[in-house]
Amino acid sequence: MEDVLDTYEVLIVGGGVAGLTAGVYTGRASLDTLIVNAGEPIVTRNAHLENVPGFPAGVNPRLFLDMLRSQATRTGVDRRGGRVVTLERDHADGGERFVATVEREEADATTGSGSEVPDPDRYRVAAERVIAASWSDADYLDPLDVEIRDADSKRYVDDDGLGRTNVGGVYAAGRLSERYHQAAIAAGHGAEVATTVIHDSSVPFYRRNRPSASGRTEIEDFRDDENLRFSNHLTPRRFTTTGSFPRATSPIAAGTFRRDARS
Ligand SMILES: Cc1cc2nc3c(=O)[nH]c(=O)nc-3n(C[C@H](O)[C@H](O)[C@H](O)COP(=O)(O)OP(=O)(O)OC[C@H]3O[C@@H](n4cnc5c(N)ncnc54)[C@H](O)[C@@H]3O)c2cc1C
Repeated sequence: MEDVLDTYEVLIVGGGVAGLTAGVYTGRASLDTLIVNAGEPIVTRNAHLENVPGFPAGVNPRLFLDMLRSQATRTGVDRRGGRVVTLERDHADGGERFVATVEREEADATTGSGSEVPDPDRYRVAAERVIAASWSDADYLDPLDVEIRDADSKRYVDDDGLGRTNVGGVYAAGRLSERYHQAAIAAGHGAEVATTVIHDSSVPFYRRNRPSASGRTEIEDFRDDENLRFSNHLTPRRFTTTGSFPRATSPIAAGTFRRDARS
């Protein structure tokens, strides 16, 4: 078996809108983050992206993706190309972590970190927490028994409403977790799930203290009372690490939105 190349605090599987936005958030919180992406995100199938806040005339999807990639990289996130084929628990060194096996294809070179030293064709990386943002592949989660809803040929990962799956340390974001098929929603959900990860990791929301464009200093941290409010806000409404999650508050479960209208 291959050696583990690196160990991260957060592994994000999928470098589309949801995964990259999640990376921006975990990176800003100084969580050591790797995004592994195979192939082209679905947004690139569109000729012109509409409904994105801040772009009144729409935006070129490739430009939008490049900007998101660059934003994630600026926060210190690493990116590698390749498909995660399995995710397993690992108890090496007495701790608990996840190990992903990644297979790289020729085309994945362009979505990687741009490093001059290419990754091997097959490699393993470890992480304390994993965000699955890999629409439309959830198969690599099967060895962990992550709860997945099969709907015809599609597979959606179940979550507690804030991105946590039934397996502690594994989260799901974007279309893969059955959110509506829109870029702004994928971005917003990636941000929300990453915020849950930051909360669960007990690190401050903004750990960096960098000068901003205005010359002022970015917020280094929330004050204690603000941190507390932040935590309270994120207290799970109903969460258990076993069993299934009721979806009563979801408009989908409540039957107010037809599933087939969203795929
Ligand atoms: C034709 C078309 C037009 C659209 N037009 C609009 C529009 O105008 N406005 C709008 O707001 N939305 C639009 N959308 C929807 C929007 O693009 C998506 O909802 C959004 O991009 C989904 O983001 P995501 O990050 O969840 O998934 P994706 O962008 O698909 O990202 C998932 C990434 O994970 C990768 N991946 C999958 N499995 C693995 C694995 N095992 N290991 C590593 N990587 C993996 C995938 O290859 C992909 O790169 C359109 C979609 C389509 C198809």
